[in-house]
Amino acid sequence: MQLPQRFGFDVDPSGNLLIGGAAAAGLAARFGTPLHVLDEARVRANCRAYVEALRRYAPGPSRALFASKALCIVATCQLAYDEGMGLDVVSIGEIYTALQARVPADALVFHGSNKTPEEIAYGLEVGVGRFVVDNEYELGLLDRFARERGRRADVLLRVTPGIEPHTHRAIQTGGVDSKFGFGLLGPDAERAVRLALDAPGLRLRGLHCHIGSQILDVEPFLLAARAVIAFAAEMRGAGFVMDELNLGGGLGIRYRPEHEPPAPAVFVHDLMETVRDSLARHRLPTPTVYLEPGRSIVGDAGVTLYTVGAIKAIPGVRTYVSVDGGMYENPRPALYDARYTAVVATRAAEPPSRRVALAGRCCESGDVLIWEADLPEVREGDLVAVFSTGAYTYSMASNYNRYPRPAVVCARDGSAQIVVERETTADLVRHDRPLVPSPAARAR
Ligand SMILES: *Cc1c(COP(=O)(O)O)cnc(C)c1O
Repeated sequence: MQLPQRFGFDVDPSGNLLIGGAAAAGLAARFGTPLHVLDEARVRANCRAYVEALRRYAPGPSRALFASKALCIVATCQLAYDEGMGLDVVSIGEIYTALQARVPADALVFHGSNKTPEEIAYGLEVGVGRFVVDNEYELGLLDRFARERGRRADVLLRVTPGIEPHTHRAIQTGGVDSKFGFGLLGPDAERAVRLALDAPGLRLRGLHCHIGSQILDVEPFLLAARAVIAFAAEMRGAGFVMDELNLGGGLGIRYRPEHEPPAPAVFVHDLMETVRDSLARHRLPTPTVYLEPGRSIVGDAGVTLYTVGAIKAIPGVRTYVSVDGGMYENPRPALYDARYTAVVATRAAEPPSRRVALAGRCCESGDVLIWEADLPEVREGDLVAVFSTGAYTYSMASNYNRYPRPAVVCARDGSAQIVVERETTADLVRHDRPLVPSPAARAR
Protein backbone atom coordinates (compact mmCIF):
# COMPACT_ATOMS: atom_id res chain seq x y z
CA MET A 1 0.00 0.00 0.00
CA GLN A 2 1.28 3.46 -0.84
CA LEU A 3 1.06 6.09 1.84
CA PRO A 4 -0.42 9.40 0.73
CA GLN A 5 2.77 11.33 1.42
CA ARG A 6 4.47 9.28 -1.29
CA PHE A 7 2.11 10.74 -3.87
CA GLY A 8 1.93 7.54 -5.85
CA PHE A 9 5.70 7.07 -6.10
CA ASP A 10 7.37 3.83 -5.00
CA VAL A 11 9.88 3.46 -2.21
CA ASP A 12 12.40 0.61 -2.29
CA PRO A 13 12.94 -1.70 0.73
CA SER A 14 15.76 0.49 2.08
CA GLY A 15 13.58 3.58 2.00
CA ASN A 16 14.81 5.22 -1.22
CA LEU A 17 12.26 7.19 -3.17
CA LEU A 18 11.93 5.98 -6.76
CA ILE A 19 10.82 8.24 -9.61
CA GLY A 20 10.03 6.44 -12.85
CA GLY A 21 11.76 3.48 -11.21
CA ALA A 22 15.00 5.45 -10.72
CA ALA A 23 16.33 6.08 -7.19
CA ALA A 24 16.23 9.76 -6.28
CA ALA A 25 19.69 9.56 -4.68
CA GLY A 26 21.19 8.13 -7.87
CA LEU A 27 19.59 10.88 -9.95
CA ALA A 28 20.93 13.55 -7.60
CA ALA A 29 24.42 12.04 -7.68
CA ARG A 30 24.41 11.86 -11.46
CA PHE A 31 22.75 15.13 -12.39
CA GLY A 32 23.25 17.32 -9.30
CA THR A 33 20.69 19.32 -7.33
CA PRO A 34 18.39 21.13 -7.46
CA LEU A 35 16.93 18.82 -10.06
CA HIS A 36 13.51 18.66 -11.67
CA VAL A 37 12.56 15.05 -12.35
CA LEU A 38 9.62 14.02 -14.50
CA ASP A 39 8.09 10.57 -14.39
CA GLU A 40 7.47 9.92 -18.07
CA ALA A 41 4.93 7.15 -17.52
CA ARG A 42 2.92 9.43 -15.28
CA VAL A 43 2.85 12.24 -17.87
CA ARG A 44 1.70 9.76 -20.50
CA ALA A 45 -0.96 8.29 -18.21
CA ASN A 46 -2.30 11.76 -17.46
CA CYS A 47 -2.51 12.59 -21.18
CA ARG A 48 -4.21 9.30 -21.91
CA ALA A 49 -6.75 9.80 -19.13
CA TYR A 50 -8.02 12.96 -20.84
CA VAL A 51 -7.84 11.66 -24.40
CA GLU A 52 -9.71 8.48 -23.51
CA ALA A 53 -12.29 10.11 -21.26
CA LEU A 54 -13.11 12.68 -23.94
CA ARG A 55 -13.36 9.97 -26.56
CA ARG A 56 -15.74 8.14 -24.29
CA TYR A 57 -17.92 10.87 -22.84
CA ALA A 58 -17.88 13.83 -25.24
CA PRO A 59 -21.15 14.15 -27.14
CA GLY A 60 -19.31 14.19 -30.49
CA PRO A 61 -15.78 14.76 -31.78
CA SER A 62 -13.27 15.96 -29.21
CA ARG A 63 -9.69 17.00 -28.73
CA ALA A 64 -7.56 17.26 -25.63
CA LEU A 65 -4.91 20.00 -25.71
CA PHE A 66 -1.95 20.21 -23.36
CA ALA A 67 -1.72 23.73 -21.98
CA SER A 68 1.98 23.88 -22.60
CA LYS A 69 2.66 26.87 -20.38
CA ALA A 70 2.55 24.51 -17.36
CA LEU A 71 5.89 23.09 -18.55
CA CYS A 72 6.76 24.14 -22.07
CA ILE A 73 9.84 22.20 -23.06
CA VAL A 74 10.43 20.12 -26.17
CA ALA A 75 10.13 16.83 -24.25
CA THR A 76 6.66 17.55 -22.80
CA CYS A 77 5.41 18.78 -26.18
CA GLN A 78 6.65 15.51 -27.70
CA LEU A 79 4.98 13.41 -25.00
CA ALA A 80 1.62 15.18 -25.21
CA TYR A 81 1.47 15.04 -28.99
CA ASP A 82 2.60 11.43 -28.99
CA GLU A 83 -0.32 10.63 -26.67
CA GLY A 84 -2.81 12.21 -29.06
CA MET A 85 -3.10 15.72 -27.67
CA GLY A 86 -2.85 19.05 -29.43
CA LEU A 87 -1.16 21.96 -27.67
CA ASP A 88 -2.29 25.24 -26.25
CA VAL A 89 0.35 27.97 -26.71
CA VAL A 90 0.53 31.64 -25.74
CA SER A 91 3.67 33.08 -27.29
CA ILE A 92 6.13 32.81 -30.14
CA GLY A 93 8.44 30.98 -27.76
CA GLU A 94 5.84 28.33 -26.97
CA ILE A 95 4.92 27.95 -30.65
CA TYR A 96 8.58 27.59 -31.55
CA THR A 97 9.11 24.99 -28.82
CA ALA A 98 6.13 22.98 -30.08
CA LEU A 99 7.41 23.15 -33.66
CA GLN A 100 10.86 22.03 -32.47
CA ALA A 101 9.09 19.04 -30.93
CA ARG A 102 7.66 18.31 -34.41
CA VAL A 103 4.12 19.09 -33.39
CA PRO A 104 2.34 20.28 -36.56
CA ALA A 105 1.22 23.90 -36.42
CA ASP A 106 -2.41 23.02 -37.05
CA ALA A 107 -2.45 21.13 -33.73
CA LEU A 108 -1.73 24.42 -31.93
CA VAL A 109 -4.33 26.66 -30.34
CA PHE A 110 -3.00 30.17 -29.84
CA HIS A 111 -4.11 31.97 -26.65
CA GLY A 112 -3.07 35.20 -25.00
CA SER A 113 -4.74 38.33 -23.67
CA ASN A 114 -2.44 40.74 -25.44
CA LYS A 115 -1.02 39.14 -28.56
CA THR A 116 1.33 41.57 -30.23
CA PRO A 117 1.23 42.31 -33.96
CA GLU A 118 4.46 40.32 -34.26
CA GLU A 119 2.88 37.30 -32.55
CA ILE A 120 -0.26 37.44 -34.67
CA ALA A 121 1.82 37.62 -37.84
CA TYR A 122 3.96 34.70 -36.66
CA GLY A 123 0.88 32.62 -35.82
CA LEU A 124 -0.51 33.22 -39.32
CA GLU A 125 2.83 32.57 -40.96
CA VAL A 126 3.38 29.18 -39.33
CA GLY A 127 -0.32 28.33 -39.61
CA VAL A 128 -1.54 27.69 -36.08
CA GLY A 129 -4.80 25.74 -36.05
CA ARG A 130 -6.88 28.20 -34.04
CA PHE A 131 -6.55 31.69 -32.66
CA VAL A 132 -8.46 32.23 -29.45
CA VAL A 133 -9.33 35.89 -29.73
CA ASP A 134 -9.40 37.66 -26.40
CA ASN A 135 -10.40 41.25 -27.19
CA GLU A 136 -11.46 43.66 -29.93
CA TYR A 137 -7.97 44.98 -30.52
CA GLU A 138 -6.79 41.49 -31.40
CA LEU A 139 -9.92 40.81 -33.43
CA GLY A 140 -9.23 43.83 -35.60
CA LEU A 141 -5.54 43.08 -36.02
CA LEU A 142 -6.08 39.43 -36.85
CA ASP A 143 -8.80 40.24 -39.37
CA ARG A 144 -6.59 42.78 -41.11
CA PHE A 145 -3.43 40.63 -41.09
CA ALA A 146 -5.34 37.62 -42.41
CA ARG A 147 -6.92 39.66 -45.23
CA GLU A 148 -3.55 41.16 -46.14
CA ARG A 149 -2.28 37.62 -46.60
CA GLY A 150 -5.36 36.51 -48.52
CA ARG A 151 -6.31 34.23 -45.66
CA ARG A 152 -9.11 33.55 -43.21
CA ALA A 153 -8.05 32.77 -39.68
CA ASP A 154 -10.00 30.15 -37.74
CA VAL A 155 -10.99 31.69 -34.45
CA LEU A 156 -12.70 31.00 -31.16
CA LEU A 157 -13.77 33.87 -28.94
CA ARG A 158 -12.72 33.74 -25.32
CA VAL A 159 -15.67 34.60 -23.13
CA THR A 160 -15.63 35.26 -19.41
CA PRO A 161 -18.68 33.75 -17.76
CA GLY A 162 -18.54 35.65 -14.45
CA ILE A 163 -17.64 32.66 -12.29
CA GLU A 164 -15.11 32.85 -9.48
CA PRO A 165 -13.99 29.39 -8.40
CA HIS A 166 -12.48 28.87 -4.96
CA THR A 167 -8.86 29.19 -5.81
CA HIS A 168 -6.22 31.84 -5.24
CA ARG A 169 -7.19 35.23 -6.68
CA ALA A 170 -4.11 35.31 -8.89
CA ILE A 171 -5.23 32.17 -10.69
CA GLN A 172 -8.92 32.99 -11.09
CA THR A 173 -9.63 34.01 -14.64
CA GLY A 174 -13.36 33.63 -15.15
CA GLY A 175 -14.79 36.42 -13.00
CA VAL A 176 -16.24 39.76 -14.10
CA ASP A 177 -13.14 41.57 -12.86
CA SER A 178 -10.64 39.79 -15.11
CA LYS A 179 -8.20 40.95 -17.76
CA PHE A 180 -9.19 37.98 -19.90
CA GLY A 181 -11.84 37.64 -22.54
CA PHE A 182 -15.20 39.14 -23.49
CA GLY A 183 -17.57 39.40 -20.52
CA LEU A 184 -20.75 37.36 -20.90
CA LEU A 185 -22.56 39.45 -18.32
CA GLY A 186 -22.35 42.66 -20.35
CA PRO A 187 -22.71 43.47 -24.05
CA ASP A 188 -19.07 42.68 -24.94
CA ALA A 189 -19.39 39.05 -25.92
CA GLU A 190 -22.41 39.62 -28.12
CA ARG A 191 -20.67 42.51 -29.84
CA ALA A 192 -17.60 40.36 -30.42
CA VAL A 193 -19.62 37.57 -32.02
CA ARG A 194 -21.23 40.04 -34.42
CA LEU A 195 -17.89 41.63 -35.28
CA ALA A 196 -16.25 38.25 -35.86
CA LEU A 197 -19.11 37.05 -38.05
CA ASP A 198 -18.77 40.20 -40.16
CA ALA A 199 -14.98 40.10 -40.44
CA PRO A 200 -13.91 38.80 -43.87
CA GLY A 201 -10.52 37.73 -42.50
CA LEU A 202 -12.00 35.54 -39.79
CA ARG A 203 -13.89 32.29 -39.67
CA LEU A 204 -15.69 32.11 -36.32
CA ARG A 205 -15.61 28.48 -35.21
CA GLY A 206 -16.84 28.70 -31.68
CA LEU A 207 -16.30 29.79 -28.10
CA HIS A 208 -13.70 29.29 -25.43
CA CYS A 209 -13.64 29.79 -21.68
CA HIS A 210 -11.10 29.04 -18.97
CA ILE A 211 -12.20 29.94 -15.47
CA GLY A 212 -9.06 29.44 -13.41
CA SER A 213 -6.58 26.92 -12.12
CA GLN A 214 -6.08 24.42 -9.27
CA ILE A 215 -9.85 24.00 -8.99
CA LEU A 216 -10.65 20.97 -6.87
CA ASP A 217 -14.35 20.54 -7.48
CA VAL A 218 -16.33 20.10 -10.65
CA GLU A 219 -19.19 22.49 -9.93
CA PRO A 220 -17.65 25.77 -11.23
CA PHE A 221 -16.79 24.04 -14.50
CA LEU A 222 -20.41 22.93 -14.90
CA LEU A 223 -21.65 26.47 -14.26
CA ALA A 224 -19.24 27.86 -16.83
CA ALA A 225 -20.21 25.27 -19.46
CA ARG A 226 -23.90 26.04 -18.96
CA ALA A 227 -23.27 29.77 -19.26
CA VAL A 228 -21.24 29.47 -22.46
CA ILE A 229 -23.75 27.12 -24.09
CA ALA A 230 -26.67 29.37 -23.13
CA PHE A 231 -24.82 32.27 -24.72
CA ALA A 232 -24.25 30.26 -27.91
CA ALA A 233 -27.99 29.65 -28.03
CA GLU A 234 -28.71 33.36 -27.59
CA MET A 235 -26.42 34.18 -30.49
CA ARG A 236 -28.15 31.82 -32.89
CA GLY A 237 -30.33 34.69 -34.06
CA ALA A 238 -27.22 36.57 -35.20
CA GLY A 239 -26.31 33.65 -37.46
CA PHE A 240 -23.75 32.12 -35.10
CA VAL A 241 -23.21 28.37 -35.17
CA MET A 242 -20.99 26.95 -32.45
CA ASP A 243 -18.97 24.26 -34.23
CA GLU A 244 -16.40 24.15 -31.47
CA LEU A 245 -16.60 24.51 -27.71
CA ASN A 246 -13.35 24.84 -25.78
CA LEU A 247 -13.85 24.62 -22.03
CA GLY A 248 -10.25 25.35 -21.02
CA GLY A 249 -8.23 23.68 -18.30
CA GLY A 250 -8.03 24.24 -14.59
CA LEU A 251 -8.46 20.90 -12.86
CA GLY A 252 -6.42 20.85 -9.65
CA ILE A 253 -3.92 18.27 -8.43
CA ARG A 254 -2.81 16.96 -5.05
CA TYR A 255 -0.14 19.11 -3.45
CA ARG A 256 -0.97 18.17 0.12
CA PRO A 257 -2.32 14.87 1.42
CA GLU A 258 -5.68 16.50 2.14
CA HIS A 259 -6.21 17.64 -1.45
CA GLU A 260 -8.71 15.37 -3.18
CA PRO A 261 -9.01 16.41 -6.82
CA PRO A 262 -11.43 14.42 -8.95
CA ALA A 263 -9.70 12.03 -11.33
CA PRO A 264 -9.59 13.44 -14.88
CA ALA A 265 -11.96 10.69 -16.07
CA VAL A 266 -14.54 11.62 -13.43
CA PHE A 267 -14.11 15.32 -14.17
CA VAL A 268 -14.54 14.79 -17.92
CA HIS A 269 -17.52 12.50 -17.37
CA ASP A 270 -19.38 15.00 -15.19
CA LEU A 271 -18.54 17.94 -17.40
CA MET A 272 -19.60 16.18 -20.60
CA GLU A 273 -22.89 15.14 -19.00
CA THR A 274 -23.63 18.81 -18.37
CA VAL A 275 -22.50 19.79 -21.86
CA ARG A 276 -24.78 17.18 -23.40
CA ASP A 277 -27.76 18.27 -21.26
CA SER A 278 -27.26 21.95 -21.98
CA LEU A 279 -26.88 21.41 -25.71
CA ALA A 280 -30.09 19.37 -25.72
CA ARG A 281 -31.98 21.93 -23.64
CA HIS A 282 -31.06 24.68 -26.11
CA ARG A 283 -31.47 22.39 -29.13
CA LEU A 284 -27.96 23.15 -30.31
CA PRO A 285 -26.04 20.89 -32.69
CA THR A 286 -23.13 18.92 -31.23
CA PRO A 287 -19.85 20.85 -31.37
CA THR A 288 -16.31 19.47 -31.24
CA VAL A 289 -15.34 19.73 -27.59
CA TYR A 290 -11.84 20.75 -26.51
CA LEU A 291 -10.31 20.64 -23.04
CA GLU A 292 -6.95 22.20 -22.20
CA PRO A 293 -5.42 20.69 -19.07
CA GLY A 294 -1.95 21.87 -18.10
CA ARG A 295 -1.32 21.35 -14.40
CA SER A 296 -3.11 17.99 -14.30
CA ILE A 297 -0.92 16.67 -17.14
CA VAL A 298 2.54 17.41 -15.75
CA GLY A 299 2.01 18.58 -12.15
CA ASP A 300 1.94 15.34 -10.21
CA ALA A 301 4.50 13.75 -12.54
CA GLY A 302 7.23 16.12 -11.33
CA VAL A 303 9.43 15.91 -8.24
CA THR A 304 12.15 18.40 -7.30
CA LEU A 305 15.25 17.13 -5.52
CA TYR A 306 17.25 19.40 -3.23
CA THR A 307 20.31 19.07 -1.02
CA VAL A 308 19.97 20.38 2.51
CA GLY A 309 22.51 23.00 3.58
CA ALA A 310 22.28 25.30 6.58
CA ILE A 311 19.85 24.46 9.38
CA LYS A 312 18.87 27.24 11.75
CA ALA A 313 16.85 26.36 14.84
CA ILE A 314 15.23 29.30 16.63
CA PRO A 315 14.04 27.84 19.93
CA GLY A 316 10.32 28.28 20.49
CA VAL A 317 9.90 29.84 17.05
CA ARG A 318 10.82 27.69 14.10
CA THR A 319 13.57 25.70 12.43
CA TYR A 320 14.67 26.76 8.98
CA VAL A 321 16.05 23.96 6.83
CA SER A 322 17.66 25.60 3.82
CA VAL A 323 17.98 23.86 0.48
CA ASP A 324 19.95 24.66 -2.65
CA GLY A 325 16.94 25.85 -4.68
CA GLY A 326 14.17 28.33 -3.98
CA MET A 327 11.88 30.89 -5.54
CA TYR A 328 14.07 31.25 -8.63
CA GLU A 329 13.21 27.69 -9.67
CA ASN A 330 9.81 27.43 -7.96
CA PRO A 331 8.18 30.82 -7.45
CA ARG A 332 4.72 29.42 -6.63
CA PRO A 333 4.92 29.53 -2.81
CA ALA A 334 6.11 33.15 -2.86
CA LEU A 335 3.73 34.12 -5.68
CA TYR A 336 0.50 32.59 -4.44
CA ASP A 337 1.03 30.82 -1.17
CA ALA A 338 1.21 27.48 -2.93
CA ARG A 339 1.68 24.58 -0.53
CA TYR A 340 3.72 21.44 -1.06
CA THR A 341 4.71 18.20 0.62
CA ALA A 342 8.29 16.97 1.11
CA VAL A 343 10.11 13.83 2.23
CA VAL A 344 13.73 12.97 2.89
CA ALA A 345 14.34 11.04 -0.31
CA THR A 346 16.65 8.40 1.17
CA ARG A 347 14.37 7.76 4.17
CA ALA A 348 11.04 8.10 2.45
CA ALA A 349 9.38 5.48 4.65
CA GLU A 350 10.38 7.15 7.91
CA PRO A 351 7.48 8.86 9.68
CA PRO A 352 7.76 12.62 10.20
CA SER A 353 8.91 13.69 13.65
CA ARG A 354 9.16 17.47 13.40
CA ARG A 355 7.72 20.46 11.60
CA VAL A 356 10.25 22.71 9.90
CA ALA A 357 10.31 25.47 7.30
CA LEU A 358 11.96 24.37 4.08
CA ALA A 359 13.68 27.56 2.95
CA GLY A 360 15.09 28.57 -0.41
CA ARG A 361 18.39 30.37 -0.82
CA CYS A 362 17.21 33.60 -2.42
CA CYS A 363 17.70 36.89 -0.58
CA GLU A 364 14.05 37.26 0.35
CA SER A 365 12.47 36.38 3.69
CA GLY A 366 9.50 35.17 1.69
CA ASP A 367 11.60 32.58 -0.12
CA VAL A 368 10.32 29.61 1.84
CA LEU A 369 9.24 26.64 -0.27
CA ILE A 370 7.21 24.99 2.51
CA TRP A 371 6.40 26.83 5.74
CA GLU A 372 5.12 23.70 7.45
CA ALA A 373 7.10 20.71 6.23
CA ASP A 374 6.66 17.57 8.33
CA LEU A 375 9.90 15.62 8.08
CA PRO A 376 11.94 13.08 10.01
CA GLU A 377 15.14 14.37 11.57
CA VAL A 378 17.02 16.28 8.84
CA ARG A 379 20.78 16.76 8.62
CA GLU A 380 23.06 18.81 6.40
CA GLY A 381 23.62 16.97 3.14
CA ASP A 382 20.28 15.12 3.22
CA LEU A 383 18.40 14.83 -0.03
CA VAL A 384 14.89 16.27 0.11
CA ALA A 385 12.18 15.58 -2.48
CA VAL A 386 9.24 17.94 -3.00
CA PHE A 387 6.25 16.36 -4.75
CA SER A 388 3.92 17.69 -7.43
CA THR A 389 6.35 20.23 -8.85
CA GLY A 390 5.89 19.39 -12.53
CA ALA A 391 3.66 22.35 -13.38
CA TYR A 392 4.37 26.09 -13.21
CA THR A 393 7.78 25.70 -11.57
CA TYR A 394 10.42 25.30 -14.26
CA SER A 395 8.22 27.23 -16.69
CA MET A 396 8.10 30.16 -14.24
CA ALA A 397 11.72 29.95 -13.17
CA SER A 398 14.02 32.96 -13.31
CA ASN A 399 17.66 33.75 -12.71
CA TYR A 400 16.97 35.82 -9.61
CA ASN A 401 20.17 36.25 -7.60
CA ARG A 402 21.88 34.97 -10.74
CA TYR A 403 21.21 31.37 -9.94
CA PRO A 404 21.34 29.12 -12.99
CA ARG A 405 18.11 27.27 -13.74
CA PRO A 406 18.25 23.59 -12.78
CA ALA A 407 18.31 20.67 -15.19
CA VAL A 408 15.15 18.74 -16.05
CA VAL A 409 15.39 14.98 -16.44
CA CYS A 410 12.85 12.44 -17.57
CA ALA A 411 12.83 9.08 -15.79
CA ARG A 412 11.44 5.89 -17.27
CA ASP A 413 11.86 2.21 -16.36
CA GLY A 414 14.63 2.92 -13.90
CA SER A 415 16.79 5.10 -16.11
CA ALA A 416 16.82 8.82 -16.79
CA GLN A 417 17.83 11.26 -19.48
CA ILE A 418 18.41 15.00 -19.52
CA VAL A 419 15.65 16.87 -21.32
CA VAL A 420 16.83 20.36 -20.36
CA GLU A 421 20.47 20.97 -19.51
CA ARG A 422 21.35 22.79 -16.32
CA GLU A 423 22.29 26.39 -17.05
CA THR A 424 25.91 27.29 -16.51
CA THR A 425 27.31 30.39 -14.88
CA ALA A 426 28.52 31.49 -18.31
CA ASP A 427 24.92 31.22 -19.60
CA LEU A 428 23.96 33.87 -17.09
CA VAL A 429 26.13 36.56 -18.68
CA ARG A 430 25.69 35.39 -22.27
CA HIS A 431 23.50 38.38 -23.17
CA ASP A 432 25.37 40.92 -21.07
CA ARG A 433 27.56 43.49 -22.87
CA PRO A 434 30.06 45.61 -20.97
CA LEU A 435 29.21 49.28 -20.91
CA VAL A 436 31.53 51.33 -23.09
CA PRO A 437 32.94 54.23 -21.01
CA SER A 438 32.21 57.76 -22.21
CA PRO A 439 35.14 59.73 -23.75
CA ALA A 440 35.22 61.93 -20.64
CA ALA A 441 35.59 58.94 -18.37
CA ARG A 442 38.27 57.51 -20.63
CA ALA A 443 40.24 60.76 -20.46
CA ARG A 444 40.23 60.71 -16.62
C1 LIG B 1 -3.40 28.19 -18.12
C2 LIG B 1 -4.45 27.84 -19.07
C3 LIG B 1 -4.89 26.52 -19.17
C4 LIG B 1 -4.37 25.43 -18.30
O1 LIG B 1 -4.73 25.58 -16.95
P1 LIG B 1 -4.36 24.45 -15.90
O2 LIG B 1 -4.88 24.97 -14.64
O3 LIG B 1 -2.88 24.29 -15.91
O4 LIG B 1 -5.04 23.18 -16.34
C5 LIG B 1 -5.83 26.23 -20.14
N1 LIG B 1 -6.33 27.20 -20.95
C6 LIG B 1 -5.94 28.47 -20.86
C7 LIG B 1 -6.51 29.48 -21.77
C8 LIG B 1 -5.01 28.84 -19.92
O5 LIG B 1 -4.64 30.12 -19.82
